Amino acid sequence: MTRTADNRGMEIELLTPQQALARMRAGAVLVDVREAHERELGMAEGALGIARGDLESAPADALPDTDAEVLLICQAGGRSLQAARALCAAGYRRIASVEGGTMRWQAEALPMCTPAADADFMERYSRHLRLPNVGLAGQQRLEASTVLLLGAGGLGSPAAYYLAAAGVGRLRLVDDDVVERSNLQRQILHAEDRIGVPKVESAATTLGALNPRTRIDPVRERATAANVERLLEGVDVVIDGADNFPVRYLLNDACVHLGKPLVYGAVHRFEGQASVFDAGRHRGQAPCYRCLFPEPPPPEAAPNCSEAGVLGVLPGVIGMLQATEAIKLLLGIGEPLRGRLLHFDALSMRFRETRLLPDPDCPTCAPGRVFAGYEDIDPACAAG
Ligand SMILES: [Zn+2]
Repeated sequence: MTRTADNRGMEIELLTPQQALARMRAGAVLVDVREAHERELGMAEGALGIARGDLESAPADALPDTDAEVLLICQAGGRSLQAARALCAAGYRRIASVEGGTMRWQAEALPMCTPAADADFMERYSRHLRLPNVGLAGQQRLEASTVLLLGAGGLGSPAAYYLAAAGVGRLRLVDDDVVERSNLQRQILHAEDRIGVPKVESAATTLGALNPRTRIDPVRERATAANVERLLEGVDVVIDGADNFPVRYLLNDACVHLGKPLVYGAVHRFEGQASVFDAGRHRGQAPCYRCLFPEPPPPEAAPNCSEAGVLGVLPGVIGMLQATEAIKLLLGIGEPLRGRLLHFDALSMRFRETRLLPDPDCPTCAPGRVFAGYEDIDPACAAG
């Protein structure tokens, strides 16, 4: 055991990790004073994690008894010594600091608590964690989020794939179809050996293999007036990947009514479009889908993918734009595609943007408009 004296003559006891462990076993409290993101990589087993700043500003919150034996540890021994001096000055009588800190503790193979989940989290999301505007807090926010994807097809595939990779904690996938061979040209969540399997099951298999941290709720249903509010329960952002009109209007009305952002995407042959409809949270300021198209088109004017055809990569482009907007909305960063309709032409490789204003007479989102309930639009104009 060694002691160190500071310039005010306060002696701080220095312990080796071995000695600290023995003291802990005899009842001493070990406090890891590093910052939360450092402790996530692992800390001495049994240590309490309290960042140095918090400990020094309100020591009595964590350590009410100034006579208790308290051992402090940090990364290499410097900060814990500083904190020990501060606690001594605050009247704590039995304070010690661990020399060499957690690095030495680990090097001496003393028990660590490295929650597997945390190590996985730090490694898996390391490229997000170093991004300004994401970081640990943002990544935890993603992990605490739920995104609803209506459709596990062309748009839902890339969107769900990237949202799972990005660490969205929960994805609710709603689709009542089964995988067909003609889907595989663009619906990349599915595979040859899963033809005939419900799409939500096939999707859950692929997404689970990519990121086991993301919880998948497969819902093998078609969205209807009767179930739409249940599907939206607890959801932070909704992605419209249904590419059919009944579901699109239903989702729009529910998102306005429940105040949830709707990330819209649609594809047709060589073209696609995307937008964010957020009228529910921004009444009178942001448009909804009905501001753009008050009524569904007649079925003959709305050919679906199976009739009109679609370039396989196209839903990939649009679905990934949707995933990007969803992540921005979840993190509250950047400028959402709100009040803007982005149009993409694959043949000319051009993006074009149209400004969308809210319709003051919109039947759904005009301020003061009373919610009229949901209607099930004739499924004859439904696409697949
Ligand atoms: Zn509207």
